[in-house]
Amino acid sequence: MSLDLLGLDELHSAEEREIRSTVRRFLDDQVRPHVAGWYEDGRAPVRELAGEFGKLGLLGMHLTGYGCAGASAVAYGLACLELEAAPRMATGEAIGCFGLTEPDHGSDPASMSTRARRVGDDWVIDGTKMWITNAPVASVAVIWARGDDGVLGFLVPTDAPGFAAGEVRHKLSLRASSTGEIVLDGVRLPEAARLPEACGLRAPLSCLTEARHGIVWGALGAARDCLTVTLDYARSREQFGRPIAGFQLTQAKLADMAVEWHKGYLLALHLGRRADAGTLTPEQVSVGKLNNVREALAIARTCRTILGANGISGEYPVLRHANNLESVLTYEGTSEIHQLVIGQKLTGLTAFS
Ligand SMILES: Cc1cc2nc3c(=O)[nH]c(=O)nc-3n(C[C@H](O)[C@H](O)[C@H](O)COP(=O)(O)OP(=O)(O)OC[C@H]3O[C@@H](n4cnc5c(N)ncnc54)[C@H](O)[C@@H]3O)c2cc1C
Repeated sequence: MSLDLLGLDELHSAEEREIRSTVRRFLDDQVRPHVAGWYEDGRAPVRELAGEFGKLGLLGMHLTGYGCAGASAVAYGLACLELEAAPRMATGEAIGCFGLTEPDHGSDPASMSTRARRVGDDWVIDGTKMWITNAPVASVAVIWARGDDGVLGFLVPTDAPGFAAGEVRHKLSLRASSTGEIVLDGVRLPEAARLPEACGLRAPLSCLTEARHGIVWGALGAARDCLTVTLDYARSREQFGRPIAGFQLTQAKLADMAVEWHKGYLLALHLGRRADAGTLTPEQVSVGKLNNVREALAIARTCRTILGANGISGEYPVLRHANNLESVLTYEGTSEIHQLVIGQKLTGLTAFS
């Protein structure tokens, strides 16, 4: 049974549909059969998968130059949707990592403690970054540090002397993804390691706008997987002598979830088309991130109730998606921060501090 009640497919070009099918086929073959095990073990073959994703042209596919594919933002979004429907990992950041958050500075990166000092012609960086996706497996890290004139970005090889990355343990969310703490102890870098265009927080925040656009789509992938599994389950599970899908209360849940999913999809597509037209603003991405992650999490939790006790089992992907979406709700700007961004746009008043 198709989840597409509104003819959403007709809104896509043949090329977009082809990219989506290729990604979905690859994930169904190579990832989906293993992902529950990776989640349970708390580790996944991130480097190997990054290689496979690279061969498929998925890494940086919406970028041009540096060997990237230059696909449209909507095609990138569709790939993110498919990726999140299978693994919550590695949507484009698999080989590098992005170090902005610190142990004491999360939502407020402007007050970061990591420092970049000039020593002769070089830079020396000291500080600690926390919760950095793929830090333990990356070969290069983008590190944001405060210089005398504002926040600067650096490309840091992870084998540089003074650089150490340890795995964050005991995660109950995103268990099939690697998350790390980075310690920078007098890491010395040449001027060439500094990102030339990046001065001030605008630079890391614009990277986040890109990533958040991927999340707007990715959240729909997690929700679609939950809905598909739950529809199947509800039609085959019988109680009181008939399928639970036949109960009005179950149908009300299914209908409400499907409506939210379709609204989220139309929102993602609208933002994707704006990204392709070069007119997407950070506030618009905040609308998408806030809505789609929040609704995807609500869908995952409601699906969990329809599966009853089976909903808490790793045999089904539903609680895994819900647990993963708890992280997605927090990273790339928490829901509260996106509410403040939207509130500021609506009122002209800043309520951050
Ligand atoms: C699995 C995972 C992967 C991550 N990957 C990366 C990564 O690759 N790179 C990276 O740099 N970071 C990463 N992060 C970090 C993430 O971006 C931060 O966790 C996030 O920005 C929130 O920061 P915090 O956890 O310090 O929470 P805090 O900033 O301490 O916030 C705690 C609570 O207070 C609320 N709050 C804070 N300020 C305000 C305010 N002004 N008004 C109202 N409420 C407020 C928040 O919304 C939240 O509910 C990752 C996090 C996780 C969980």
